[in-house]
Amino acid sequence: MRGRTFARLLVAGFLLQGSWLAYSQGPPSPRPLRTERVAGDLYLVSGDGGNVAVYVTGEGVVLVDDMFHRNHADILAHVRTITDQPLRYVLNTHQHDDHAGGNAPMLPIAEVVAHRNARANMVARRPPYFEETPGTPIGLPRVTFASELSVFLGGKEVRAHHFGRGHTNGDAAIYFPGLKAIHTGDLFLLPGGPRRAPADGRPVGVPIFVDYAQGGSFLEWTETLDGILTLDFETVIPGHGPVSTRADVERFRADLETMRTRIAGLINEGRSRDDLVSLLERDYGWRATGCPPSPPTAGCLQYQQVDALIAELRE
Ligand SMILES: [Zn+2]
Repeated sequence: MRGRTFARLLVAGFLLQGSWLAYSQGPPSPRPLRTERVAGDLYLVSGDGGNVAVYVTGEGVVLVDDMFHRNHADILAHVRTITDQPLRYVLNTHQHDDHAGGNAPMLPIAEVVAHRNARANMVARRPPYFEETPGTPIGLPRVTFASELSVFLGGKEVRAHHFGRGHTNGDAAIYFPGLKAIHTGDLFLLPGGPRRAPADGRPVGVPIFVDYAQGGSFLEWTETLDGILTLDFETVIPGHGPVSTRADVERFRADLETMRTRIAGLINEGRSRDDLVSLLERDYGWRATGCPPSPPTAGCLQYQQVDALIAELRE
């Protein structure tokens, strides 16, 4: 994703996340969802919030993420169109409410699992509500893990891996070894769809959101992607956007590094904070104006934490 489409796609991505809409227009009604088959017994439910993976086994269903709270009934209805098997597990890729916002109504019917830092971040969000989406109850996972956790169900394995910091400090990549498929959460995302050829002179960039307030790291993000790339997979469900490939993740990693190297170079050249902010807006579509001071909002949060970014990339 490059060129002049980049900023537009970035904004589209944040709109998909819904936080901005939630703030500016009150709680939006749920968008319609759709189901597609990804590979074997793995399906993707998408259309609002983050991508939800549905893995069907002979002993029940494993979900990866559960979107916003408002999507709960619709997600269950979509699972019912795929299988009669009961829902058994929900694995959170991280704690943001477009991915884990549906945890609370899942807890009575399934075991919800997350990385220990993701759970700690939910606790730090001051339950019972997500502040980004007022009124959304936080559902705290009962089970956490540190580096790796496997669920074995109906002869199939689903494995949650934590390879380090990136989008947050509690990101999990969910691996389906039997299918050579993976759900990356927001460590990899293509919110506007497949990449386009460069349309103008804009520099290479990726539509990432480094959530410094919840332990994210621009610097360590590539190492975390390298961890993911040690797994044997070809099919990728991104945090947002269409089903992708291993090659898409490799390109994303390379573009992230290019973007970070350029930004770090500018910081270490001694550019002023204002200079840097307008450059981030112009070249990468980060939003520096029109942001509410509170609550923290996707896209705007990046600007609010530009000091954290500068501090991390300064040598
Ligand atoms: Zn996220």
